[in-house]
Amino acid sequence: MKALVYRGPDNKAVEDRPKPELQAPGDAIVQITKTTICGTDLHILKGDVATCAPGRILGHEGVGVIDSVGAGVTAFRPGDHVLISCISACGKCEYCRRGMYSHCIAGGWVLGNEIDGTQAEYVRIPHADTSLYSIPQGADEEALVMLSDILPTGFECGVLNGKVAPGSTVAIVGAGPIGLAALMTAQFYSPAEIIMIDLDDNRLDVARRFGATQTVNNGDGTAVKKVRALTGGRGVDTAMEAVGVPSTFMLCQDLVAPGGIIANIGVHGSKVDLHLESLWSRNIAITTRLVDTVTTPMLLKTVQSKKLEPKLLITHRFRLGQILDAYDTFAGAASTRALKVIIEA
Ligand SMILES: [Zn+2]
Ligand SMILES: [Zn+2]
Repeated sequence: MKALVYRGPDNKAVEDRPKPELQAPGDAIVQITKTTICGTDLHILKGDVATCAPGRILGHEGVGVIDSVGAGVTAFRPGDHVLISCISACGKCEYCRRGMYSHCIAGGWVLGNEIDGTQAEYVRIPHADTSLYSIPQGADEEALVMLSDILPTGFECGVLNGKVAPGSTVAIVGAGPIGLAALMTAQFYSPAEIIMIDLDDNRLDVARRFGATQTVNNGDGTAVKKVRALTGGRGVDTAMEAVGVPSTFMLCQDLVAPGGIIANIGVHGSKVDLHLESLWSRNIAITTRLVDTVTTPMLLKTVQSKKLEPKLLITHRFRLGQILDAYDTFAGAASTRALKVIIEA
């Protein structure tokens, strides 16, 4: 089968790989129908993710059809259409029982990281019963690819951890797919203001269409001044970091109002200065989280009822054989205007 393989920093290739086989009774083999590329894959290719070894098939998002299941799988049968969660969870360990699937001792974020992922024709999913979701009949399967990772990530790490509330003020730093996913799901709670900050005017235009009340281009480095002007000098109740570089996390430290929360979403590959000398007395909280995907069933319902339209995030489509072009398009978003690219396997 064709697969996109990480060969080390700045090195990837399409390779011919054997079809995966069942290894444990809880496994399922899923034939991928649609997958996508994540900003996290770009972080892996930069060398930011030490757990991902060269030789790994990338990808942790997708939908597909069950090809085969191990003897221990009871919830799915061959032919079932499934949504693959980026987080694999045994459902039984202490962390799983606490709803922290991301830290499952026998799973977590392993797909396309510690085990082969979804940018291929087939993928092996461990703990299939608790790591896959049935796709409702008649659902738009392509749109549901956005529920593998980015929508639960934006919602859990940004909106829930950031305690977005009715009437609150929110700034989201980074208007890429994750920032936009946070923007879409923040609106469940009716905040008074959602200020989107980015360097790319196209992405800020998209953010306005998706419900941002204000947008700030920080190309001139004046975002703090502009946000203060928009918030009566206070700053914001929730500052979400949705990029994963030191400068954007530092910006969040300057944007947060007394009593506010900095909710980190980004994948960070290097250390960041924490300005505790100015934050210690301001009653702020900093949260970090790897998405647990505990909200995936809820998000599926909001998509079915059209409260959430993840399809809006899809800008480009490719075949699996063109996945290198898909990577170029996704990585070159400033010129291609890509948000999420769909890859058909
Ligand atoms: Zn991802
Ligand atoms: Zn577990």
